[in-house]
Amino acid sequence: MNIRYIDAHCHLQFEQYAHDREAIIEEMRGKGIAAIVVGCDRESSRAALALAEAHEHLYAAVGLHPNYIGQESLDEETLQTLAAHPKVVAIGECGLDFFRPLEANEDVKRAQKEVLRKHIELAASFNKPLIIHARPSKGTEDAYQDLIELLREEKAAYPKISGDIHFFVGSPMSAETLIGLGFTVSFTAVITFAREYDSVIRTAPLAGILSETDAPYIAPVTRRGERNDPLAVVEVAMKIAEIRGEDPETVRVALLANALRMFSLPGRNAP
Ligand SMILES: [Zn+2]
Repeated sequence: MNIRYIDAHCHLQFEQYAHDREAIIEEMRGKGIAAIVVGCDRESSRAALALAEAHEHLYAAVGLHPNYIGQESLDEETLQTLAAHPKVVAIGECGLDFFRPLEANEDVKRAQKEVLRKHIELAASFNKPLIIHARPSKGTEDAYQDLIELLREEKAAYPKISGDIHFFVGSPMSAETLIGLGFTVSFTAVITFAREYDSVIRTAPLAGILSETDAPYIAPVTRRGERNDPLAVVEVAMKIAEIRGEDPETVRVALLANALRMFSLPGRNAP
C-alpha cells in the first residue's frame, strides 16, 4: 500500500477495540494510513508487536509508561527481546509524568528518571528512536525542563539518540529546544478543539512536527467524547495545516516524510 499518513502514536491493541479492531485496520489500509502501536507495559508491548506482525501497515513501540512503574518493574530482558524485532521501530512509551502532584513526589520522579534512562540505553543499543511521554504538573513545564536536562546528559553518552515527544503540551521554547536536540514533537486531535497549542504549532519548524492520535483517547471535534481511532490522523494533519496557514498537501507530505525519517520506515509497503 502507498502510505499517505502515519499515526505516530496509538493504542490499537487496547480492549476498547476488541469488537472492531480488524475493521478499523482494514479501513486504515484503504485510506493509506499506517500507524505505530505503542505499548505501555509488558502485556501491551507484546500485543502491539503481535498486531505489527499481523499487518504490514502497523508498526510497534515497546516500553514501560511512567504511570505504570508502580504496578510493574522494568523487565529489561523481555524488552530487549521485543526491541530486537524489525517491526519494533521505537522504544517507549517511556518518560516523565508529574501531572498528579500527590503522586509525583521526589522519590517517584527519581524512579521515573531511572527507568527513562534505561529506555534510552536500550534505544541507543538498538539504534532505534524513543517515544517519550512527558506531562508536567498543572500550569508548569516541570516535566519538560527535567526531560531536557536528562536528554542533554544522555546525549553526551549517546549522541545519536532521537525520538518523538508525544502529545506535546509545552511552550514554543521547550519545543524549539527539544527539536534542536534531534527530537520531534507530535500533536493529537486535541488541537481540533483546544486553541492553546496554536502558537507552538505555528512557530515550530514543520520538519520537527509529527501527527498522532493517542487513540482510543481524545477524539476530534467531529466526534468529541467518543472513542477515537487512528483514522482521525487525517483531521490532525489538516488542522496543523490550517493553524500554520499552509497548503494541506504540502503539510501532509512533510508530516509523512518526518515520520518515515524518524522511525526509518519504508514509504511503501509490499502490496
Ligand atoms: Zn500513549
